[in-house]
Amino acid sequence: MPILLLLDGDGIGPEVNAQVRRLIGWAAGHGLTFESQHARIGGAAIDAEGAPVSDATVALAAKADAILFGAVGGPKWEKLPRAQRPEQGLLRLRRELGLFANLRPARVWPGLEDVSPLRPERAGDTDLIFVRELTGGVYFGEPRGQSGTAPERRALDTQAYSEAEIARVAHAGFRLARGRRRHLTSVEKANVMETGQLWRAVVTEVAASYPDVTLAHMFADNCAFQLVRAPTQFDVILTDNLFGDLLSDLAGGVAGSLGLLPSAALGEGPEGRTPGLYEPVHGSAPDIAGTGRANPVAAILSFAMALRHSLGAPALADALEAATGRALAAGARARPLGGRGMGQPHRQCHPIWWPSPSY
Ligand code: NAD
Repeated sequence: MPILLLLDGDGIGPEVNAQVRRLIGWAAGHGLTFESQHARIGGAAIDAEGAPVSDATVALAAKADAILFGAVGGPKWEKLPRAQRPEQGLLRLRRELGLFANLRPARVWPGLEDVSPLRPERAGDTDLIFVRELTGGVYFGEPRGQSGTAPERRALDTQAYSEAEIARVAHAGFRLARGRRRHLTSVEKANVMETGQLWRAVVTEVAASYPDVTLAHMFADNCAFQLVRAPTQFDVILTDNLFGDLLSDLAGGVAGSLGLLPSAALGEGPEGRTPGLYEPVHGSAPDIAGTGRANPVAAILSFAMALRHSLGAPALADALEAATGRALAAGARARPLGGRGMGQPHRQCHPIWWPSPSY
């Protein structure tokens, strides 16, 4: 029986994961039963266990098939030193579970075209997914650091990729494309970066194993332009850690709201098992926690991704996404969401309702 680990976290994390618990019951009604486990993470774990994630929780996560993560953080823990803060729990899990492929879909849902800042005829059918390399590149490369004193201070980061790191995330991208519209755009800066040249060469080699998927190469700056000019041209976008960080947020902006977006972080498990950590892109929203206004769509769509990518239930994933689409098209809305730290004023508030998906 597949093992699900629920890590609710802080703020609205427990509220959005409460809807995921309902869906676990729904899946059981359709013949898919799980062993569900629960553990603390983030601020809740700091308060109760003295660390943002305990060794015991990491051990549970390593045995799980899918981890349903809510959100972490809040004002209570903001003054802690960086190494002890709530988000370190998430970073430790990603690192220790080897979750190297970050899947970030961006979709303009029918009925929500008005949420996109782009004209509906330009963005209306946007349905793309990023595969971002998550454990390498400039966020982890060595050497790094700062030296010197003013006025001669220097700072150094290193962008480094091995062939193996590129190949494994490229395989993840091509496998994903096979289940979609079979088009993959590989994004780098091969014109000015050594890692970009290696990236392009390795992705081209991996593509030979997927003749049914068309491959296009694109420079990252052009990709930013094309995401705004013509986002419907994209299906799967494969890119490195830094470009993926920036461009997937841009695509979230095209979709209109970071708050509706799910995500997955996948690794390479033994015997074909793909352990995954699934989480909404939004944070813990301390400003609305406890008010009943948390929008659960991103958490629900994250559960759909878990059904598809880790739990071997693509039909249930399709049903859940279709139910989400029907609910949104029928007018189910929360208030418009800002991005992380964007501090945007909210234009209006709508009551939230969430019907059970039908199958
Ligand atoms: P945020 O995403 O939590 O909130 C931004 C704005 O969007 C807020 O006004 C919030 O009320 C709203 N919002 C977010 N999700 C919503 C939802 N599901 N329904 C309705 N409204 C929603 O970003 P922030 O304010 O920059 O950060 C708040 C805390 O979350 C911080 O402690 C930050 O470190 C943390 N954070 C955690 C994660 C994570 O756990 N993966 C990601 C980003 C930020």
